[in-house]
Amino acid sequence: MKRHFAALLITLVLVLRGAGPALGDATVSRSAFPQTVRVRLWYLHPPHDLRVSAGAGQAKIRRCSMCKDSGFGMLTLRASGSSIQVDGDRSLTPQLRLSGVYQMSAAGDPPIRADFPIELRADSGHLLVTASMPMEEYIAGVLAGEAGNFKSDEALKAMAVAARTFAMHFGSRHALDGFEFCDTTHCQDLRLAGIDARLRRIADSTAGEVLWYDGEPAATYYYANCAGTTEDGRYILGNDEAPAPYLVQHSDRYCIRSGGSQWQSEVSKRELQRALADDGIVVPGTLRSVSVLHRTSSGRVEFLRVVGISSVTVSGPAFRAAVGRHIGWDRLKSSLFDVNDHGDRVVFHGRGAGHGVGLCQVGAEVMGEEGHSYREILSFYYPGTKLGVAAQGIAWQQLANDDIELLTTKPDRDRTLLPVATRYLHESEESTGLVYRAKPRLKVYATVAEFRNSTGEPGWIAASTRGRTIQMQPPDTLRETGTLESTIHHELLHMLIESYARPGLPRWFREGLVLYLSAPGQAARHESATGDVALLEKRLRAPQSEEELRRSYAEACARVAQLAQQHAKDELMSWVQNGLPPELAASAGEERASSKSVR
Ligand SMILES: [Zn+2]
Ligand SMILES: [Zn+2]
Repeated sequence: MKRHFAALLITLVLVLRGAGPALGDATVSRSAFPQTVRVRLWYLHPPHDLRVSAGAGQAKIRRCSMCKDSGFGMLTLRASGSSIQVDGDRSLTPQLRLSGVYQMSAAGDPPIRADFPIELRADSGHLLVTASMPMEEYIAGVLAGEAGNFKSDEALKAMAVAARTFAMHFGSRHALDGFEFCDTTHCQDLRLAGIDARLRRIADSTAGEVLWYDGEPAATYYYANCAGTTEDGRYILGNDEAPAPYLVQHSDRYCIRSGGSQWQSEVSKRELQRALADDGIVVPGTLRSVSVLHRTSSGRVEFLRVVGISSVTVSGPAFRAAVGRHIGWDRLKSSLFDVNDHGDRVVFHGRGAGHGVGLCQVGAEVMGEEGHSYREILSFYYPGTKLGVAAQGIAWQQLANDDIELLTTKPDRDRTLLPVATRYLHESEESTGLVYRAKPRLKVYATVAEFRNSTGEPGWIAASTRGRTIQMQPPDTLRETGTLESTIHHELLHMLIESYARPGLPRWFREGLVLYLSAPGQAARHESATGDVALLEKRLRAPQSEEELRRSYAEACARVAQLAQQHAKDELMSWVQNGLPPELAASAGEERASSKSVR
């Protein structure tokens, strides 16, 4: 720890109990955030052959599951039935693996640079390519596919969070095939060849950030352009999906500023009838007319009436999907349209593009260019969700009020800590006459093991503070020993005092003052306040045992209690910012970096 990093400290809370669980028991990450995802490349059109050339590093090939890796420079891989032929060799292999840094290209596609392993199999003369890539590389590739033309970095960041959250919410739609995502819009459009430094930077700058609702990653749908009104999520979510209040219909004052969302198209009635039939929607006789039967509250087509000999009712999304799949997705860019009959043709006049549920990409761009942050963009399009970081397998969610930010993986369990912390925050300001310079953040771990592994502290440390962040053990663990509230109080006081403390203020005074202020009535009276102050300072800085530390804290508290009998409290508080008076400053420590603490 660097000495000049004054805001860095780890404080200590005394708990009258033995050591915590033994070090070394495994941590189980409950809400595992996938760091690596398996993606099927060329999902719709698997190539017959693939040319691979080694990159700057070392590229390796493993020709069978039991084989060893060997290096290569250039390779041509060709599917032959359900086997793979390497460089025209006679021997075929059912599967192989490439790793290292290399470049691969399939005929007609731009080359893909890869530094992640891929596995290849062959099926009916096609190569099935499955990549195991870092999640953030996948997100950068999705940005290239879905938002590559964005100008605003903030809008791109919002898209990165939406794409990541979407992937986590829906998880794998291909679990049975042995991978998580395909590279088409079925999952999310992935364009690895389109990744550049900017997209990688955007993905990394939001790494692990996910939008949460009710403890789950939200269903972060997005689309190109809502034309001024988003759509309610119930028109897109399946019946088995929970209702999503953040996918509420609302007006979008941003995308309409960009204008130009109108479109027009036409389809022959014959073509239309065949397209509907291909999707199982049979219109009896010859299709004569199409009209809008009902619209959703956003104005989008909910049902149409299609008339032949008799009429059938078709839902807007089913109608649009049939036209898109069998005639072309450019014909009905959205379901915000009017239908006009033109003899043997049907003409559509419409606005916007996409289903309209969730984030409007054009609107997000306008917001970004007008100076809104990606957080603002996300909360505009997904109101009521919370942005949280899922790092190291821990998915943090944020609860906050005006005074305190609470990070937790168990919001239901830890919610009650918010008012408790708020109360002690005000109490600390009152008792010190100081005001918090930054909003304190309370990070509450799910388990003792998680706390220990993340902070590096032993189990008997109840909490530690760095800057404005207090990292805390699970509340149940502290409640058991009756130290939950005192821990919160102690850490908040510490943070406040440290943020004002003059560099070089001795540790015994800082620690003693916090202990004294948190319980002025019961300062350890029976502890000696007359020992060697230099020795006390040394022990506080480098305690040899939990027991020694405990005693040192009691002694520091007793010293401050004694000073409080001789001096007014205001005077004591003024020493925090101005330093101790000369007669007390003797043998004061110079360092003010960190301290340790007992549970
Ligand atoms: Zn897919
Ligand atoms: Zn919009």
